Amino acid sequence: MKKDVRSLTHDELISFFESNNHSSYRATQVYEWLWKKSCFSFDEMTNLSKNTRELLKDKFVINNIKIDKIQKSSDGTIKNAIKLFDDSLVESVLIPFENRTTACVSSQVGCSLDCEFCATSKLKRIRNLNADEIFDQVSIINNQSKTYFGRPISNIVFMGMGEPLLNYTNLISGIKKISSNDGLGISPTRITVSTSGIPKMIIKLADEPIKLNLALSLHSAIEDTRTKIMPFSTRFSLLEILDSLKYWYKKTQRIVTYEYIIWKGINDDFKHIESLIKFCKKSPSKVNIINYNDVGNKFFIPADSNSIDNYVQELMINNIPVTIRKSRGNDIDAACGQLANKITN
Ligand code: SAH
Repeated sequence: MKKDVRSLTHDELISFFESNNHSSYRATQVYEWLWKKSCFSFDEMTNLSKNTRELLKDKFVINNIKIDKIQKSSDGTIKNAIKLFDDSLVESVLIPFENRTTACVSSQVGCSLDCEFCATSKLKRIRNLNADEIFDQVSIINNQSKTYFGRPISNIVFMGMGEPLLNYTNLISGIKKISSNDGLGISPTRITVSTSGIPKMIIKLADEPIKLNLALSLHSAIEDTRTKIMPFSTRFSLLEILDSLKYWYKKTQRIVTYEYIIWKGINDDFKHIESLIKFCKKSPSKVNIINYNDVGNKFFIPADSNSIDNYVQELMINNIPVTIRKSRGNDIDAACGQLANKITN
């Protein structure tokens, strides 16, 4: 099998050209085609001679990903089914707001976690995306944003399929490429990684030189409730998660966002509100209340607006910043927790 040219570093490309009696400048040109211009075909590298292109074709392939299907929501949100080079599918969503455009991207094909309220958990984990696939996905969505909205994406959230911190190495190298000037030049301060809470990995992320934003899918600050709705979380106690978040803040000085869905009869009472407030006071944080998007599980019913108001009021009284995330793209199953490759059925 031929090697993917994109697995080579710039230096390795230089050595390749030099050992084939070409100027090292060719490596710079190829590198730019691959990483600045997201070019997926040697034939399109028009500033190379035919011979050079043939040499490359002879030795390498360019693995790439493609948009397989697009669905548009009445609110402007665009959901993409993206086909990876081995035909696996992931979903990525482009969400336009008044003055920004957010790309919601996937880190794994399927997911190994078992959050019962999330459609992706039904797919199980098939494999990790590699770093190039993570980069390409953002690059494709960035181009789509330019085409549809006349501007590049402004923010990236790893809130699509998968648990980003269980694909750590690829996630970080993908993000490095996304934020580097060789790549898309998107500042890491505009990138958010959302995790279900894996303390060891949160600590690792805090130690990275690259400074990202962190969101934790909390949904309950009461251990019993949390393990019921997110069964895998028995492996990571809230206390352990909290310790890792304290470390995160100490190292990065960045406030963590707690993502929080409120369901009827599960976490819509004052006991849960009080626990959340207590939890929030232990480490600098803000709360993002997420509207629940139905995934067809009868156990999960969205809380009524009174309970949501109670949460908001109590958090505000306690000076904890709180926002409510409006749902986008529900009509095409593109909203949070609805990504389950239905588009391909
Ligand atoms: N595994 C990561 C990222 C994917 S989930 C994580 O758990 O954070 C991205 C966000 O969507 C999480 O906050 C998750 O809790 C939320 N979510 C999952 N299912 C949802 C649903 N049905 N409705 C609304 N939000 C949901």
